[in-house]
Amino acid sequence: MINKKKSIVTMIIMGIVILISSVAYMIFGPPESIKLGEGELSDAEVAIHIIDVGQGDAAFIENGDHDILIDAGPGDSAEKLLEYLDGLGVYEIDYAFFSHPHEDHIGGADDVISHYKVNNVIMPDYYEETACYRRLMQGIDYEGAELVYAAAGDKFTIDDITVEIFSPGPRYKPDNANAISFIMKVSYGEIDAMFTGDAETGNEDFALRNYGDALDCEILKVGHHGSSTSTSEDFLYAVSPEVAVISVGEDNSYGHPHIETLSLLNSYMDNIYRTDRHGDIVFGMTKDKYWIVE
Ligand SMILES: [Zn+2]
Repeated sequence: MINKKKSIVTMIIMGIVILISSVAYMIFGPPESIKLGEGELSDAEVAIHIIDVGQGDAAFIENGDHDILIDAGPGDSAEKLLEYLDGLGVYEIDYAFFSHPHEDHIGGADDVISHYKVNNVIMPDYYEETACYRRLMQGIDYEGAELVYAAAGDKFTIDDITVEIFSPGPRYKPDNANAISFIMKVSYGEIDAMFTGDAETGNEDFALRNYGDALDCEILKVGHHGSSTSTSEDFLYAVSPEVAVISVGEDNSYGHPHIETLSLLNSYMDNIYRTDRHGDIVFGMTKDKYWIVE
């Protein structure tokens, strides 16, 4: 008897809950999700510029008085990079992150450091006996920028932007510079963008094992110029991006982006942008929406 009464009460409560949710759905519509839109740069609180530097990576985040650079492209695109940043009226860069010390990511770094006031340089702790690495280190030393070696678990707060590092692991000893590449999430309000440098599937697996759900992002800068050594299916599903950007040079000798990566991305999403086809790609954002600047 008592059990019967209890189940009737449970059914009534469930009925009320269903009724309330249906009425809320009718009035307010489905729960809002963040969707890629189109808009003007002037409406943005923060803008992410994926700059076309040919075969390499360079991204710039306009963030009021505390701008952020992620990689500086190859040396032969340095002039284009400086022209682009000058065009934005850049004078000072608060944080310059260099994903790993390969020429297509740091070749333009010494020009950036001598041309602008760069306050902080953040890199993985990895030494390369190359001319571009030496020039970067001399530039940091000469201009007096603060050099910080970072690894997974480090977090930077730059005004309302947070940058979280998910790779490389703190005790990781790689045999090549790609395997030490940063995987880093840049967040502003509800909008997250993942920058992966040339991180390989080993770095992605480390990030997956240690950070799982935190990998979820709206925007993915695809790893290693779309090479098949990056972007595992598991990593892509964990990031679950709405838009992917491949930074790659036209007719490059590596065959980037690789067909395997393109077909995986195509099977997952519609919004795929490439610097070799679309040139510079700019996102504007507020804390709850983001859009491609046309
Ligand atoms: Zn690269």
